[in-house]
Amino acid sequence: MGFALADELAAQGANVTLVAGPVSLKCTHPAIHRVDVTSAEEMKAACLEVFAKTDGAIMCAAVADYRPKYPAEQKIKRTADNMTIELEPNDDIAACLGKLKSDRQVLVGFALETHDEASNAVQKMVRKNLDFIVLNSLQDKGAGFGVDTNKISILTKDNKVVDFQLKMKMEVARDIVNHLVTALEKR
Ligand code: C5P
Repeated sequence: MGFALADELAAQGANVTLVAGPVSLKCTHPAIHRVDVTSAEEMKAACLEVFAKTDGAIMCAAVADYRPKYPAEQKIKRTADNMTIELEPNDDIAACLGKLKSDRQVLVGFALETHDEASNAVQKMVRKNLDFIVLNSLQDKGAGFGVDTNKISILTKDNKVVDFQLKMKMEVARDIVNHLVTALEKR
């Protein structure tokens, strides 16, 4: 979804910085500057470096909530015992940017929910200080991971809900970017 959004933003004339985790996808548009990262901490640093210079950010990475506290430098050998890996929480990058956001910037998040979708999404939007949140439900066939389609609703901080049909991810990206452009025009 992030690559589709970057392509659509560039196609509509934006200069885009795409901060991407390890994926095999390629982007070709010359207006997309890609920054590759391999951890949540690197992703946070890359986002913080660029955010102040942007008109806004769309946060759509599925960032791990936790990371191993003591990463092993070498392969961990099997033993007969149970193994416990101690985890520590990753920072919430969207919430960090939400604290830094100026009035002219638009910050967008995603919520992938399995139940109480709308109320969970609204809580996330408020907690992270987002302007709008894109909700996809795992209840909907054809939405979420591993498919070329998605079915979304956009919930805004002024309590509006816009429901969209199941579409190809490129078309979903266009709906989200159009919503972002409208929000920026109101600034
Ligand atoms: O809280 P949850 O992970 O469901 O929120 C999803 C939203 O928060 C997405 O926009 C995701 O990219 C963002 N997020 C983040 N940093 C994290 C976890 C989630 O920016 N550590």
